[in-house]
Amino acid sequence: MTQTASPATPEETKASNFLRQIIENDLDKGTYASRRWAGSPGDAAHHAEGAPDTAKIRTRFPPEPNGYLHVGHAKSICINFGLARDYGGVCHLRFDDTNPEKEDTEYVNSIIDAVKWLGFSWSQPGNDAPYQASDYFDFMYRAAEHLIEAGHAYVDEQTADEMRANRGDFGKPGVNSPFRSRTPAENLTRFREMRDAKLADGAAVLRAKIDMASPNINMRDPAIYRIRRATHHHTGDKWCIYPMYTFAHPIEDALEQITHSICTLEFEDQRPFYDWLMDKLCEGGLLAAPSPKQYEFARLNLTYVVTSKRKLAQLVNEGKVNGWDDPRMPTIAGLRRRGYTPESLQLFAERIGVTKSDSWIDYSTLEGCLRESLENTAHRAMAVLDPVKLVLTNWDEAFGAGHSEPCTLPALPHPPEGQPEPAARQFSIGKEVWIEREDFAEVPPKGYKRLTLGSLVRLKGGFVVECTGCSKDANGVVTEVHAKVFPETKSGTAGSDSVKAKGVITWVGVADGVQAEVRLYDRLFTDAQPDAGGKDFLQALNPLSLQVVQAYVEPSLLQAAPDQKFQFERLGYFVADRLDHSSNHLVFNRAVGLKDSWAK
Ligand code: ATP
Ligand code: MG
Repeated sequence: MTQTASPATPEETKASNFLRQIIENDLDKGTYASRRWAGSPGDAAHHAEGAPDTAKIRTRFPPEPNGYLHVGHAKSICINFGLARDYGGVCHLRFDDTNPEKEDTEYVNSIIDAVKWLGFSWSQPGNDAPYQASDYFDFMYRAAEHLIEAGHAYVDEQTADEMRANRGDFGKPGVNSPFRSRTPAENLTRFREMRDAKLADGAAVLRAKIDMASPNINMRDPAIYRIRRATHHHTGDKWCIYPMYTFAHPIEDALEQITHSICTLEFEDQRPFYDWLMDKLCEGGLLAAPSPKQYEFARLNLTYVVTSKRKLAQLVNEGKVNGWDDPRMPTIAGLRRRGYTPESLQLFAERIGVTKSDSWIDYSTLEGCLRESLENTAHRAMAVLDPVKLVLTNWDEAFGAGHSEPCTLPALPHPPEGQPEPAARQFSIGKEVWIEREDFAEVPPKGYKRLTLGSLVRLKGGFVVECTGCSKDANGVVTEVHAKVFPETKSGTAGSDSVKAKGVITWVGVADGVQAEVRLYDRLFTDAQPDAGGKDFLQALNPLSLQVVQAYVEPSLLQAAPDQKFQFERLGYFVADRLDHSSNHLVFNRAVGLKDSWAK
């Protein structure tokens, strides 16, 4: 199924999720019913001591802690944790930290935050900490020695170039290494020398002995251990050899008794090796059967977004954005600061579904989920982003000089059922109010329902006014709009209908309005596929992705808490910035407009 703008409904999505069918089938057949779980990861002997596993399935989310998680990871998190939740299982959070060079505790913490914030938990009785693949290095080493002893692995000392040349290619079988026929005893000695730092980095690798003529290049004796003198953030200098990802990952799954190991499509060609390795280690009695199985789904590609940690790091490091949690970033931290809710991202993951073929999801699908999430929960407020003063010239005669008239509007027009209705908003109107500059036109376009000479307009929650003109500066820029108020037309009173208004505009009182910094965010890129086909995504940066304006907002927003979401009426959804907002300095980020301004 190719998806662009029109996502499946949640019902269709559930039905089309092929992973659910696989799991339901396994549960019916009892594929994993015999598994035991010893309360912590371990080998066959360890789990044999345990009781039958009460988790019906085990899935895992295995990020490499080398950057912040992005919206694609959110999809993977929702799939893995969602399936475990729905089928009486458990989902593990596992740091895939087998690569010694790139990891950082800042990233570890940000990943923990992101998963929790999305609403998921990996903790089990007596088992709160996430798992770390580096805890399994001892077992991985033992597994490697086992493969050597069983004749399934050998130490290769060809140069990297020779190895590459001898691997062959798509149409050409590989050539056996001259080191391939070494005896297990010789291999074991050499491998131990690798471990004991007797060989230089790159001087040798351990390879699985499978088939150099396999049509699947991944089965042509893949490297499984390499020499790398690097300090690991967790194991320090204990090791100078590290397992390759393709070897480490299936073992991590097996030690954790994972049943369904779900990954993105680019790992499809690795599946035969995954199964090969599981077979060999189960045969040898090292790992408990039944083994985990790998299933692949299409990664998320979202228009106007790049989802590669490396490229996101480049945006941060080159100062194109203000950090990993910049509200324009597609990181979970950025989306959160932008005003996205966990519910909106879960809804998004459900709606785009799980498929087997790569496709692009339109950015507006993500935005639509946010609007849906906020529609009935975000309190309403009035704000004026591009203010010009409206003077009600007959105010003093009508009400008396200096009079200010209290007004009220509901915080939520449709409060969710069963929840107490939030207190109504209080604000007031006087002789002068702020309105949006574009709500007045000297020469109105056809069908204009706002302020223009002689038009009748309601100030929302206030009075009907009739526009009587404007004053301008020497450059012809409007400095003030003038109108007369109909004093008997206050909203919610019997006379409110006595004068018919053509349109309704939002406003903020000059006397009680509060200044606020409003950050108007837009898409970070102007190109729908900024990095497709090797394009330089930095060329497609949207110069207008952030505009900061000084706005006036209604006084109820003095109570806004950081991270609280609002609908600024007629303008969009906004969030009080988690970091910069305070009652002394109001800062709101635009999360999303009320409708898709990019739609053609
Ligand atoms: P990146 O390429 O951005 O560095 P990655 O795949 O290397 O991403 P990992 O930390 O290895 O990042 O990913 C953890 C999990 O998230 C993996 O199971 C991976 O398949 C999944 N994942 C990563 N990117 C996406 C995506 N765009 N859509 C869906 N799942 C993803
Ligand atoms: Mg990766």
